[in-house]
Amino acid sequence: MEKKELVRLLALENFDPIYEEADRVRRENVGDTVHIRAIIEFSNLCRRKCRYCGLNSANKNAVRYRMSPEEILDTAGQAVRAGYRTIVLQSGEDPGFHKETMGDIVEKIKRMGAAVTLSCGELSYEELDFLKKRGADRYLLKHETADPELYAKLHPCGTLRQRIDCLKNIQSLKYETGSGFMIGLPGQSLRTIAEDLLLLRELDCKMAGIGPFIPHPDTPLAGEEEGSPELTKRAVALARLLLPKANLPVTTALGVIDQKEKENAFACGANVIMKKVTPDPYKEAYEIYPAKLEKTDIIGDRIRLEEQIRQLGRVPA
Ligand code: SAH
Repeated sequence: MEKKELVRLLALENFDPIYEEADRVRRENVGDTVHIRAIIEFSNLCRRKCRYCGLNSANKNAVRYRMSPEEILDTAGQAVRAGYRTIVLQSGEDPGFHKETMGDIVEKIKRMGAAVTLSCGELSYEELDFLKKRGADRYLLKHETADPELYAKLHPCGTLRQRIDCLKNIQSLKYETGSGFMIGLPGQSLRTIAEDLLLLRELDCKMAGIGPFIPHPDTPLAGEEEGSPELTKRAVALARLLLPKANLPVTTALGVIDQKEKENAFACGANVIMKKVTPDPYKEAYEIYPAKLEKTDIIGDRIRLEEQIRQLGRVPA
């Protein structure tokens, strides 16, 4: 599938046959299992100014926090006891969180018997190498948009080249590599989305998070339109066809727009879901985009999620 073909498919009047094909390819390649990951949003301090993101350092309304290593480990322990086997550690790009501290945390979580995914923004080769050696398994760094000009407009603090170079470092250090992008960024076209999809394949991603853009009121993109859930699901389905064996999460942002969409996303190629286990006061402060959040109940949330997955005829891992 090349760019033209992807653009044509994204714009189809009736996409149902592609959804069916994506669902079939998903079943054949990764089965009916849905992987449930626990995500701990351990710091919302950020040195960058990504124009869509509520954590950007220019947002003076954000209440900033950084969890202590003890709090992070306590939360991870609760998640492991609730049945999670992957802990995703996500944060803003927080230079105050030193690699040694992070390395200790990774090592201790690994000893609990869980895999560790990091999602802490662009780190240097040396930092990535250090954390890999301490046991980190996977790294998530979305490329956000494959259009270099749009990327430059949205990111005053970096270039698409730097982002891709960082992804290549992650790949070369043998992390299981995840990228992804947003749907509905102002200035994006179907051509851009086709390029986003092709970049996932070029990077040989093992994971890809594709989610709708949701405007945050305290950012320069406040008042822009949010991304289309339908177009998001189409992009997930095409990602499944391009990367048959990849882990494709139903992104949290999709569930934020419409609970029903979340179920549909599982029927169009996705096989992963992430659940926030971040302690309450922090969870609210980690506001990348506005969302209504329930109180965290690590065990209860897990049980309910497993039940929902079974109701969809799928098997929680
Ligand atoms: N600092 C880390 C983690 C970023 S937050 C990093 O740079 O990788 C995780 C993801 O949230 C981002 O990669 C981005 O794709 C998404 N995101 C940020 N702002 C958003 C918004 N307003 N709407 C939807 N998704 C958003």
